[in-house]
Amino acid sequence: MSKTFFVKTYGCAQNTADSERIKAHYHQLGFTQTQNWKKADTVIINTCIVRESAENRAYGFLNKVDQFRSSSTPQIVVTGCLVGSAIRQKNKKGVSKLKKLKEKFPSVDKFLPIEKINFNIAPLRDKKESALIPISSGCNNFCSYCIVPFARGPEISRPFDQIISESKKAIKKGFDHLTLVGQNVNSYGSDLVKKSETYILPSGQKVKPVLVKSMGRARIPTLFPYLLDTVANLPGTKLVSFVSSNPWDFSDRLIETMAKNPNINRLLHLPIQSGDDQILKKMNRGYTVQEYINLVKKIRKAVPKIKISTDILIGFPGEDEKSFQNTLDLCQKIGFHKAYLNKYSPRSGTISKKLYQDKIPQKEKRRRWQILDQLINRPSSKN
Ligand code: SAH
Ligand code: SF4
Repeated sequence: MSKTFFVKTYGCAQNTADSERIKAHYHQLGFTQTQNWKKADTVIINTCIVRESAENRAYGFLNKVDQFRSSSTPQIVVTGCLVGSAIRQKNKKGVSKLKKLKEKFPSVDKFLPIEKINFNIAPLRDKKESALIPISSGCNNFCSYCIVPFARGPEISRPFDQIISESKKAIKKGFDHLTLVGQNVNSYGSDLVKKSETYILPSGQKVKPVLVKSMGRARIPTLFPYLLDTVANLPGTKLVSFVSSNPWDFSDRLIETMAKNPNINRLLHLPIQSGDDQILKKMNRGYTVQEYINLVKKIRKAVPKIKISTDILIGFPGEDEKSFQNTLDLCQKIGFHKAYLNKYSPRSGTISKKLYQDKIPQKEKRRRWQILDQLINRPSSKN
């Protein structure tokens, strides 16, 4: 009988996409998948460390598996952002944090860097409604609160033709909804092309990279509008979504692409994080509140039926009543369809953890969370 594996996934769409590739990898090694971790020969835990609570959930599961197992079965494999950040971060003596992690969790048989799993392995998809297509990994933005650039490293774009070929395969398998996934999808391609260079699309068409601007300055070249357009025009694509896009990398060309392709999802995720300029600055987000408002106006004018969802970070250091009120005002102005509300938790290695104290009590964060949740996510409170 072949050996079995079980994958437990925490975190974002990118982790879910990674897990589909991990499953394919174990499948190739001759394992079969089980939905019951107690019956698995190998349990793989794909971790998220974006917030302390997510990290603790992974530890909780790890301990549960450890307590259950007799001798060395199941094998425990830990992968994902916990491993990525331990490899990339060093302690004051210059020793990688991986060593410390190994000491902390002696029951783990293997720490698997996600980079060991090839992007191009045919994924074992388990999301039935939409095929997740990773288009890049990592992030170059270094928002001051965020561990992702440490956990996943710099942004690396997957080659254009590989994305198209995976999309075609997913369509052939019966998926008519494709979701392009990355930490910052709309900067896709900034590492594949230079600002002044011509880029040849797989179709043979020669294009100029789109320059995205931040605070009026051309920031980086991107190929994302071309990629999205190409995927949306593949025969059989009924719906294309993309997560997450950063407001400051949202080009006019991307808006045009959305407008001209009705099969691009009319629910757009556009994380704002805060509605206060001072807080946004401390967060190192590359836009102001007014720029965000202008962007939404432009998008709504070109794509009238668009609904916008967002992420909000609650209780970032320095968020007082006034800055919180600014966030509430902005939310009222925009009328978000939905908001993912995250209470700030300091993450080791980030700038905000180094520079600011996390002084806002949990109780107060919870109060702000409830107010925002009522305002945005509870239709009964919407007039
Ligand atoms: N790339 C996306 C977000 C990726 S992280 C973007 O730029 O918006 C997903 C969400 O986790 C973020 O939008 C943020 O709201 C939340 N988050 C990130 N770091 C956090 C932290 N230290 N504490 C609490 N929430 C955090
Ligand atoms: Fe984190 Fe900012 Fe990168 Fe999003 S853009 S993953 S919030 S650093």
